[in-house]
Amino acid sequence: MDFEIARRTPQEALARLDSRSSGLSAAEVVARRARFGPNRIEAAEREPLWWRLGREFVHFFALILWFAAGLAFVAELHDPGQGMRELGVAIVGVIVVNGLFSFWQEYRAEQALAALRSLLPPQVDVLRDGHLERLAAEALVPGDVIRLGAGDRVPADCRLLEAHGVRVDTATISGESVPMARSAAPCASIHPLEASNLLLAGTLLVSGEASALVFATGMHTEFGRIARLTQGAAETVSPLQREIARISRLVVALACGLGVLFFAIGELLGLPFLANLMFAVGIIVANVPEGLLPTVTLALALATQRMARRQALVRHLPAVEALGSTTVICSDKTGTLTQNRMRVARVVSADGTDAPGHVPAMLACIARHCHTLRCSAGTVSGDPMELALYAWAGAGASAECLDELAFDTERKRMSVVVKLDGRRLLLCKGAPETVLPLCRTVADGDQPRTFDEPARAALLAQQAACAASGLRVLALAWRELPEQAPACEDDLVCAGLLALEDPPRPQVREAVGRCREAGIRVVMVTGDHPQTALAIARQIGLVRGAQPLLLRGEDLQRMTPAQRQQVLAAPELICARVSAEQKLLVVEALQARGEVVAVTGDGVNDAPALKRADVGIAMGLSGTDVAKEAADIVLLDDHFATLVDAIEEGRAVYANIRKFLTYILSSNVPEIVPYLAFVLAGIPLPLTVIQILAVDLGTDMLPALALGAEPPHPGLMREPPRARRERLLNAPLLLRAYGWLGVMQTLVSLGVFLWLLNAGGWQYGDALGARSPLYLQATSACLVSIVVCQMANLFVCRHPREAVWHGGHNRLLLPALAFELLVILAIVYTSPGQQLFGTAALSVAVWGWAALGALLLLCCEELRKACMRARDRARHG
Ligand code: ADP
Ligand code: MG
Repeated sequence: MDFEIARRTPQEALARLDSRSSGLSAAEVVARRARFGPNRIEAAEREPLWWRLGREFVHFFALILWFAAGLAFVAELHDPGQGMRELGVAIVGVIVVNGLFSFWQEYRAEQALAALRSLLPPQVDVLRDGHLERLAAEALVPGDVIRLGAGDRVPADCRLLEAHGVRVDTATISGESVPMARSAAPCASIHPLEASNLLLAGTLLVSGEASALVFATGMHTEFGRIARLTQGAAETVSPLQREIARISRLVVALACGLGVLFFAIGELLGLPFLANLMFAVGIIVANVPEGLLPTVTLALALATQRMARRQALVRHLPAVEALGSTTVICSDKTGTLTQNRMRVARVVSADGTDAPGHVPAMLACIARHCHTLRCSAGTVSGDPMELALYAWAGAGASAECLDELAFDTERKRMSVVVKLDGRRLLLCKGAPETVLPLCRTVADGDQPRTFDEPARAALLAQQAACAASGLRVLALAWRELPEQAPACEDDLVCAGLLALEDPPRPQVREAVGRCREAGIRVVMVTGDHPQTALAIARQIGLVRGAQPLLLRGEDLQRMTPAQRQQVLAAPELICARVSAEQKLLVVEALQARGEVVAVTGDGVNDAPALKRADVGIAMGLSGTDVAKEAADIVLLDDHFATLVDAIEEGRAVYANIRKFLTYILSSNVPEIVPYLAFVLAGIPLPLTVIQILAVDLGTDMLPALALGAEPPHPGLMREPPRARRERLLNAPLLLRAYGWLGVMQTLVSLGVFLWLLNAGGWQYGDALGARSPLYLQATSACLVSIVVCQMANLFVCRHPREAVWHGGHNRLLLPALAFELLVILAIVYTSPGQQLFGTAALSVAVWGWAALGALLLLCCEELRKACMRARDRARHG
């Protein structure tokens, strides 16, 4: 299909596509679907799986390992029988296990993210056989007639049939984000971006309402054509993943440095060249954290899955970390803190008196017709407030809608022009502040009189009274328009006020309390009246003090940036009558104060604030496509409590990564110190290179993964937010892993090693053959002690400060422990294990001593934690 359709009238366009204004029939849809396929942008051919699997074996670390394995086999040829062949086999084993494990983790992570994306399929209103249906955008075929509203993403290339105030943002195709007006009239240009009556798939409807004819779908659209060219856009890498990559490189450098240093020492001491070289390579191999990045990616992906289960959909992985360090939440009121289930609670007639009994006719008429609800097949859907008004108004004469002046947060009102009983009426509703100044007269009954100061004051007093009890107040007004006169909102007749009740959501109070404990400030940013906002804030515990700071949007706008930063420091803060643009100012000022800001939003105009925020959060139910696409996270249930849950998960990811870092770093100490003792103190080598590999790339692997999947600790939301500048690997973590847990493990393992040698009759200075039974037993004992200590360490690492038994239930923990035990048993007691790792069967006594050592480690660490807790309690009184 070419764009010639732009030159035609809507009727001709329909005819060209064999369609009609009431939409296609079911049979036509089936036929066209068979011919054109689903309306979907096909993903480009991805690299085949085997290719990606293969890549796991040829990256830089893997190449180092291959080199080392090759070296070992060469050494075996050169000098057979020194155990070099076993080492070579072990290293190849490491490459294979590690490659498969990384591949599996990356695959899992990718699957998790793909599953998330499919949770939010775009929907569209389609007219078929004269009925309006809400269908998945994928179901569209050329010839379909669709309805679009402000905030919708255009699902396919279409020709406008009818348009009211339509403006589109074509940034996704043209790269320029300047909204352009569109109308249904035929135009001269047939250039897809310039034709004023075409809407292209992937662009956004920024305002207005439209009915349009689909003429191209899926890969036949302009967007599809571009997608074919540019697919495979860069995947986002989160700062956390970048930091992990940085840490990995650092550790690699450190490992290489250590390897070279040890090699030099060995050379100085005159050790055999090849054995010495192999040892250096072993040190490097053991310390290179190959599995770190995939484990972190998987931890992040699993967190997004847990969040999805709690109704928070993560669209950008980096948002998970930003969530965890959030210090301020700017939350909408309506729908997020409240239920968005509204009900008209009070009716005030134009003279300022309560009108519970009789409903003023004009008030009901405006409530019935002034809205943007979509009525189809007997059901009405749309904004809950308008639904409440519509329900309250009850049945009445139907009117033809001629025009609409749309609502936006700046104007805080909307109007429609309707034809009713032969009269052309403009019906307006909105915030009293913006509607009442437009009114010149009041009419209760048939006698219009001027809307004077006392009348205005009476209404404002009523508004204040309603707002104070948490009701949202709307003013309703109208006027008659002469034929042909443009729709203008002035000279209105005031019809009265309606007050709507919107109770707080049930769990919000508790969620607000959790934020308070977690050191997260919640700022209500709403378009509603300050007193309404305050009343709700009190109901949900957001405001407890007598002196909360109530700011209006206009006040904020008048301030200098410095003043804004200053006032936004207030502990209890409500921003009311705020437009979307002013919301952006709030976000910027908070960020300038160094806060990490999470912002909620639903409307088209909220997009800039959502993009600007550290974490932009869109509403899944009430949000527009525009808001969802600008956001990092979508709350499927619009609920504030869900947001707080997501923050908890965000914190947990970070904490978990630290847990497994501590775990794998601590075992490096008992792996390296024995070699130092060997060279410097002249004892037999307590732990061979293969055995080091067995720990780092064997027994440690699953337990580390289990720590990465820990559930959020109950105390997590009682800690203050993590500082933005804080590093993942900080001094306390390194000190605890290397200087404390690692040292204890070293003492235990070397202790058991020396005890066994001693019991076997060895004395300091004696030479021991590398194949002598006593030596084999002693190194096995050292290995077993390290692994048993790591088992205790697994529990200890569940929290840096809280006791082991305080954590939640982690169902991966025991399987990981069992795995660790099985692997070490296989290494020590099976014949292939003994061959490969140079071990020998051990007596129960050795296990006993190792277990005792591990128990000691556990007790010492718990004691240290208890002391820290006691110190903190003393400090905070
Ligand atoms: P909130 O933050 O509570 O969602 P909004 O910015 O959506 O506030 O709305 C601001 C004010 O505009 C409301 O208090 C109400 O007075 C008015 N308003 C909201 N929605 C509509 C609507 N659909 N039609 C007319 N007025 C509206
Ligand atoms: Mg709103």
